[in-house]
Amino acid sequence: MGNFDIQKVRADFPILKREVNGKPLIYFDNGATTHKPKQVIDGIVDYYAQMNSNIHRGVHYLSQISTDAFEVTRRKVQAFIHAKHEHEIIITKGTTESINIIASCYGRPFIGAGDEIIISAMEHHSNIVPWQMLCDEKGCVLRVIPMDEKGELDIAAYQALFSERTKIVSFTYVSNALGTINPVKEMIDIAHKHDVPVLIDAAQAIQHIAIDVQELDVDFFAFSGHKMYGPTGVGVLYGKEALLNKMPPYQGGGDMIRDVTFEKTTYNDLPFKFEAGTPNIEAGICLTQAIDYIQDIGLDAIKAYEDDLLDYATQELAKIDGIRFIGTAAHKSSVISFVVDGIHPYDIGVILDKLGIAVRTGHHCAQPVMSQFSIPGTVRVSLAMYNTKEEVDILIAGLERAVAMLK
Ligand code: PMP
Repeated sequence: MGNFDIQKVRADFPILKREVNGKPLIYFDNGATTHKPKQVIDGIVDYYAQMNSNIHRGVHYLSQISTDAFEVTRRKVQAFIHAKHEHEIIITKGTTESINIIASCYGRPFIGAGDEIIISAMEHHSNIVPWQMLCDEKGCVLRVIPMDEKGELDIAAYQALFSERTKIVSFTYVSNALGTINPVKEMIDIAHKHDVPVLIDAAQAIQHIAIDVQELDVDFFAFSGHKMYGPTGVGVLYGKEALLNKMPPYQGGGDMIRDVTFEKTTYNDLPFKFEAGTPNIEAGICLTQAIDYIQDIGLDAIKAYEDDLLDYATQELAKIDGIRFIGTAAHKSSVISFVVDGIHPYDIGVILDKLGIAVRTGHHCAQPVMSQFSIPGTVRVSLAMYNTKEEVDILIAGLERAVAMLK
């Protein structure tokens, strides 16, 4: 289970000691990116001070230790998400790149004119646009799983979307705009009954929910380092070996080749086939510290703490005059989106910022969600393991003040 000591956790995050606009920082924009514990920050400094070297290339000492450290991360990720093989872990720039790799390298060869791709009504733009680009290029068609007024997907409608032409399903584990946790296992099983592979966007799940890709039997799985207390510029694409093997490379360049002549190039094996060029080495290496950090505390303990905080924040926010929650699913994780009658979300965000409180306002890269609820955007409070009930109380006081000023 692990031990959850909130004071110890907070002490690990140096940025939480700073002030913003003369007030202690209260950071509720964790859905956009999380802060980094000193273990990750120290890891980055240590990399440049002690190791800096290109990986997979040099015979010299520094290149070897950098390569080893980078490959430690791959094995760390493999264990963290319970992948069968280390070479099923592709190190990418982040969720967006991971999804684009699948849209491009699975989509282009295996999805043609008239074929269908299923996504959901609550996707982040990064799980909509790559598929639309594929549709524009190949003449395939996007089918969208509808969502109800609570922000829950309609599973019966999902089932009815499958046809002979369905080639892939891609949806989010947790909605960044609504907080909904989707019934991923059930949805994967439904797709597999139709022999259709599934990509899960886990950008908002990986830092909150323990993952076992083999138990889920998911085909592709994407997430970002920077949303899980790790560095920016690194992420993961997991794919089942057999599927990755039949896909062509994403980009051409160094590292992804076996032999190059002007007549013909042969490609490297997994995972390097999908890792052309010099990656963000320090970020790749220091994803290890982020995973260690999460695992030392334990995702079960983190989830229990965050769920309690989510309940508390939801209950306290409900007391705000004129508040309307956007996203009231039965199963939610760490995200509370809301609007207040007659007040633009942006104005609330600006006033809270003056009080040192960081929230997100806007469409959260999920414009179709906002269209469905007929709103321009929401105020989004997204929690991380270092947030506290005291911070929620300060947010509520700030919101009451903002609402009184703006009404
Ligand atoms: N999917 C979801 C659900 C997200 O919340 C985000 C980030 N907001 C992304 C994808 C894209 O992640 P990144 O920008 O790290 O590639």
